[in-house]
This record gives sequence, C-alpha cells and structure tokens, in this order.
Amino acid sequence: MSLIMSLNSGSSSLKFQVFRMPAEVLIASGLIERIGLPSSVFTVKANDHEESATLDIPNHKEAIRLVLESLKSHGIVSDLKEIAGIGHRIVHGGEKYSASVVINEQVEKDIELLSDLAPPANLLGVRVIDEILPEAVQVAVFDTAFHQTMEPISYMYPLPYEYYEKYGIRKYGFHGTSHGYVTKRLREILGSENSRRIISCHLGNGGSLAAVKNGKCVNTTMGFTPLAGIMMGTRSGDIDPSILAYLSEKEHLSLQGVTDLCNKKSGLLGVSGISSDMRDIENAIKDGNARAKLACDMYVQRVCSTIAAYAVQLGGVDAILFTAGIGENSIYLRQLIIETLEDAFPIELDRTANNIRRKEAKISTTSSRIQVWVIPTNEELVIARDTYRLMK
Ligand code: ADP
Repeated sequence: MSLIMSLNSGSSSLKFQVFRMPAEVLIASGLIERIGLPSSVFTVKANDHEESATLDIPNHKEAIRLVLESLKSHGIVSDLKEIAGIGHRIVHGGEKYSASVVINEQVEKDIELLSDLAPPANLLGVRVIDEILPEAVQVAVFDTAFHQTMEPISYMYPLPYEYYEKYGIRKYGFHGTSHGYVTKRLREILGSENSRRIISCHLGNGGSLAAVKNGKCVNTTMGFTPLAGIMMGTRSGDIDPSILAYLSEKEHLSLQGVTDLCNKKSGLLGVSGISSDMRDIENAIKDGNARAKLACDMYVQRVCSTIAAYAVQLGGVDAILFTAGIGENSIYLRQLIIETLEDAFPIELDRTANNIRRKEAKISTTSSRIQVWVIPTNEELVIARDTYRLMK
C-alpha cells in the first residue's frame, strides 16, 4: 500500500488529492485559491469532513507546506515520509514527452525550457517538493502527451516550415490526460469494436475537443497554446489572426496585451458581458438577455462545427462524449449541441436520460446510430495511477 498525492499547481491556485494505491481510494483532497493575493482560501476535505480557512498565503512553497501540514493535522499521515510519490500535472511536454515520466534533473530542465509556453507554476510545485520531501518519487503527467499520436497533417500549421524546425511551432493540444481517461473509459463500456471513432468534448472553463481513432488521438482543437480551438469561458478560441495586429494598433496595446485580452476577457465573458461561467449565462438567458443567448449560440455552433469536421476526419462517428464542468453538468448545453447535430447526423438525444449531472450515463436514444455519453473526468486519478505505476 502506498500514499500518492496528485498536485496541480496553477498560477494562483493549487489543487491536491491523496490516494491510497493500488486500491485507488481517495483519502484527502483540497484546493488553495488566490495564492499571492490577500485572503487566500484554503479548503481541505478529509475523513468526510470539509474545512475552509481564509489566510494570506504568499507563494506556492507556503501553499504546499500548508497542504502537507494539514495532512498531518487531519491524521492522514503521521510522518510526511509516508507519501511515497507525488504526481504533477505538467501543462507542456513538447514533442519529447508522449507519456508520463519520473522527474529527474533532465526532465526538470526540459520542463523549464518549455515554460515560456506554459505556466511556470508547474515547475514551482516540483521544486518545492524537491526541498520539502526529497525522498518522494516525483512524476510528471503531461497535458500534451495523449495528443502526441497526431500526424503532421493535423499538427502542422500552414506557416513557413522553418518555424516548426526552429521553434517547434505546431499544434500540441491540451487536456490530454482528461481526453485519454474518458475515451479509455468509454471504450471499456462499449467494447473496442463499437468505439473505434470517438469525439471527446471536454467542456469546462477551458474547453477542447479530441478526435480519437482506436484509442489514439488524431486531432484536437487546442493548438500551440490553449488559446486555440473552440470558444471558452474567457478565451476567444480561433479567430482571424489579423485581428491581433489591428486591435493592437487601434487600442494602443502591445501584442502581449491583445493576447491577454483574447485569453482573459473574451469567450463567453467577452460576448455576453456578463460572466465566463455557464451557469450565469444560462440564468441570464432565462431572464431574456440577448447577448447571453448569442454567446451561448456561438459556443454551440463552434462545438458542432468541430464535431462535423472530426466526423469527416474519423470517417464516421461511433460515439460522442461530454466531460468536465459544462459537459458533465449542463443539461441545457448538451441538449442544444445534440439537437443541432440531429438534422445532419444519425443522432438522437434522449431528453429524459440527459436529465443528469456528474455521472456516467448514455444520453442518446436506443435508435440513435451515434451514441452519446456523459463520462465524468478524473485527471487526478490518472496522475495517481501513473505515479504509482512508474514508482514501481
Ligand atoms: P476548469 O476548466 O476550470 O477545470 P470546470 O471543468 O470546473 O473548469 O468547468 C467550469 C464550468 O462548468 C463553468 O463554466 C461552470 O459554469 C460550468 N458548470 C458547473 N456546474 C454547472 C451546472 N450545474 N450547469 C451548467 N454549467 C455548470
């Protein structure tokens, strides 16, 4: 028996889960938000009990220290050495990493080299653990790894080839741990013959779709960075790239400023002017807000167009699956998406079956040729599984 912690260090947040392996029992979990800002919020759940505290946590080192201390104070461990392995969610693995690896000096260097493409906080988590728990095995689980099976026809951009060679400018794709987990789970349910061509829709605050053939990714919507693809909570997704230079000139913004605007002020938030949160958008639509409706319809159109494109690339579709915050919870969005597809594809929503949240379920009718499923994602479990496997 081993205790494994999965850690997800974002720019101002830290999420963790502790599992007893190999039984895969979740024994503690928690979240620290607003790291480096006044009034950070620390929530921890252990022994069926949830506690929240507001305090000032200046940096990731303090955040991780606090998490480890709380594991002691909640009786999860009596000595921190009981945590045998730590798995980190690492956003970018470049072309080198198509699977999870044990972190050594070389891996740390590689992650650092890629850090201009991904949040540097990922590496901070690794370094803090190096200091506090030097004996623990650390494993990197890359968000890009699952997508490394894409062929050049899907991952190359139509730019001068030399920039691929010089800078590695290509599509990498993200949310790979999630797409990998949910498509594998659906293939277990349906059997490999009935799940050769899956379109996986990870719709959360960030969102991406993946086309998966015989369990391998052949295309995905996020690109060189997570800004590409479908419209998201605050990200624009794909837009005419000339808009960047035009807006930069008109609004007297640097190119970085415009890129930030596309990342943080666009998407559902930008169009609706209300919120990046789909629940708020749904409520505003109920109140008759036209811009919320427009934002939602644009979102649905982009998801549906991608599904249509991937159906062509896959040579047909056996199943479409929904996962992540919106995919697992928004009955309304799932209905809009599937009913939009109904005119063009042999697909039919079972409205009663669709009336579920956060659980595994088939939501298409028995006569629907394309099956539609909700499969809750669990990236933390994948991180713990990979960490346990590689430790051994
Ligand atoms: P992240 O990408 O930050 O991990 P999540 O996967 O948690 O995000 O997804 C967050 C999104 O899920 C938000 O837009 C939120 O509104 C949406 N969501 C969560 N619960 C519901 C719900 N009951 N109905 C509609 N949308 C929901």
